[in-house]
Amino acid sequence: MEIKKQKIRFRILKGCEANILNDGQLDINDKTLKKLDFVIAGIHSNFKMAKKKMTERLIRAMKNPHVDIIAHPTGRIIKKRESYLLDIGKILRAAKQTNTILEINSYPERLDLSDRHIKLAKELGVKMVINTDAHHKDQMRYIEYGIAQARRGWAEKKDIINTQPLEQLLRFFK
Ligand SMILES: [Zn+2]
Repeated sequence: MEIKKQKIRFRILKGCEANILNDGQLDINDKTLKKLDFVIAGIHSNFKMAKKKMTERLIRAMKNPHVDIIAHPTGRIIKKRESYLLDIGKILRAAKQTNTILEINSYPERLDLSDRHIKLAKELGVKMVINTDAHHKDQMRYIEYGIAQARRGWAEKKDIINTQPLEQLLRFFK
């Protein structure tokens, strides 16, 4: 018997994770960012900043019209590094105002946002995305930890953009 070829339609989205520099600007220029379907921005250096400066740094990144998602928003690495100093209330309000999505990073050492921050984000109507942060295909399975983390924070399907069909998902991006 001949196996019928199934036609599965899917679309690969182009995205990146850019670095948020000290002053809140990104390390990728606007012209390049414009070409992408979505832009994730995250802090990967200079973690030891004063609370006010760090909060402003992240808010400036959120105000960038190309930035859709903030990666691992508090920067904690469980048992290795505390979260950087941050006014989480201000960050959540800025996310709401700028329609920026906050990541729930599924990496076992990160799980960032934390459960408490997920609950606060939900209460303020801030949308979240569950990302694996996979650096290898075997790490795609980490998504399960991200889903568990979202549930610990009482997030529901409507709070998480990547539970939505493609057309709706795309509407969340700036
Ligand atoms: Zn990152």
